Amino acid sequence: STFSALGLSQEIVSALTEQGYETPTPIQAAAIPKALAGHDLLAAAQTGTGKTAAFMLPSLERLKRYATTSTSPAMHPVRMLVLTPTRELADQIDQNVQAYMKNLSLRHTVLFGGMNMEPQKQALRAGCEIVVATVGRLLDHVQQKNIQLNKVEILVLDEADRMLDMGFIDDIRKIMQMLPKQRQTLLFSATFAPPIRRLAQDFMHQPEEIAV
Ligand code: AMP
Repeated sequence: STFSALGLSQEIVSALTEQGYETPTPIQAAAIPKALAGHDLLAAAQTGTGKTAAFMLPSLERLKRYATTSTSPAMHPVRMLVLTPTRELADQIDQNVQAYMKNLSLRHTVLFGGMNMEPQKQALRAGCEIVVATVGRLLDHVQQKNIQLNKVEILVLDEADRMLDMGFIDDIRKIMQMLPKQRQTLLFSATFAPPIRRLAQDFMHQPEEIAV
């Protein structure tokens, strides 16, 4: 199969070609059409399988339909939130996002701890559709009212099992309660332990399950 055949448009496919991606990986082939159709996903995937593109590419495709070149911050609300367990992973995802969306007029930023809040606050104030964040730092920004989550259309929980192992379950539930109920949720995890199943039951809408 090809990325075009999975339903991705030329701007995205050409960015992938530049990255040297020729063929979708199995998780990408399984996840992209379902996510493009708007389904919630429960996907079992280890690191190294291409899972980042599996959740980012269909999301970019959906976000780009209402992308704007306006410079007004109000025209760039947070529309996609990606939660990750670690700074390293957040940073890595954000770098991938930057490469995948290079032909799109969307904005992205990354939020993680151990860094000054101020530049992150300014990036949020300027407006950006895609926010990749660690849980703790996101909540810091929420508390300081630096970020509004009432326009989020897509939530990704990446490495959900690791976030739970690190004790973030209550924080994740807290964040999920702040988001619009009408949204797409994409959950990626190496395993589906009972707490993950409960999270899916409480906060997801008839998720499609993918295992490759
Ligand atoms: P991930 O599992 O998302 O951490 O991706 C693992 C690595 O594979 C990253 O370096 C990606 O840039 C790369 N990658 C992801 N999808 C593809 C693809 N379809 N073709 C070639 N490389 C890919």
